[in-house]
Amino acid sequence: MVILKSVDMRYVAMGVSLVVAVLMLLGKMAAYWLTGSYAILSDAAESVVHLLATGFAAFSLWYSTQLPDRLHPYGHGKIAYFSAGFEGALIGAAALSVFYLAGHSLVYGVVLGPLGAGLLITFVLAVINALLGSFLVFVGKRYHSIVLVANGKNVLSDMWTSFGVVLGVGLVWLTGWKWLDPLVALIMACNISITAYGLLKKASQGLLDRACPENTVLLQKCLDEQIQSGCIKSYHQLRHRQAENKLWIEFHALVDRSLSVEEAHRRITVAESAMRSLFPDFQVYITSHMEPGDHKGAHPLEYDEGVDALVADEDRCNLK
Ligand SMILES: [Zn+2]
Ligand SMILES: [Zn+2]
Repeated sequence: MVILKSVDMRYVAMGVSLVVAVLMLLGKMAAYWLTGSYAILSDAAESVVHLLATGFAAFSLWYSTQLPDRLHPYGHGKIAYFSAGFEGALIGAAALSVFYLAGHSLVYGVVLGPLGAGLLITFVLAVINALLGSFLVFVGKRYHSIVLVANGKNVLSDMWTSFGVVLGVGLVWLTGWKWLDPLVALIMACNISITAYGLLKKASQGLLDRACPENTVLLQKCLDEQIQSGCIKSYHQLRHRQAENKLWIEFHALVDRSLSVEEAHRRITVAESAMRSLFPDFQVYITSHMEPGDHKGAHPLEYDEGVDALVADEDRCNLK
């Protein structure tokens, strides 16, 4: 019953977020149409992206939790990186178009309509976003949903953009300095570009299986301890990669050649358990390859293990 309730709440929150995202986009486009303000347009451009991002987040929430299947034996977690890259590219394109429009109007003159109604709409939408963002972060934290918390933070950053625009356009309204409007739009576009860069970086790191350096240090330290305790003789070809909350680790372990298969398996399982306990918040999958005796003797010379990327340079020389 508790589980049912929590699942319902997450999807309800996601649904509310989607509906409000549509409302935001329509409201901001209306405000731009009324005022002709590029600062408000930059805010609307962010809303287009936010709507798509929320749609993708809702899809990811469902898709990333699908169990591994015959065609996706590593599961579906990478969809999150794919969606981050998609969002990043869209936000980048939105920022570029605002740069162009605002730059153009700075050079060739600013044309603005009456600002009052558009300002009021933008302000009301920002207040709605403040309430929605806080609600999403609250529900996300309560039910441990990373996707919901991220979506809530996204809504809150959208809110700050809107308040910034209200401030900027409000100043234009008070002072009559029209050139302030494209200037505010350019500042907003810089901010949007930073968000785009962050998303593209996250996507490329996830899709290219970047090995988190902190995890490399943890794993090497753990395996070194297994050598010191006499559990294994040595290790190499350590590799690890992650998708959201799943972590895959592989390594080759050298054990004494006089051990029985049972004892060798037991020892490597001890090493694997020690590695697994380093990451209590992850689902950890470990694959190991056992080699008897010393590395040179374990394989005939023509056996190609590939590049051992995580080994220190001096050790790599010793292996050859
Ligand atoms: Zn090996
Ligand atoms: Zn086993």
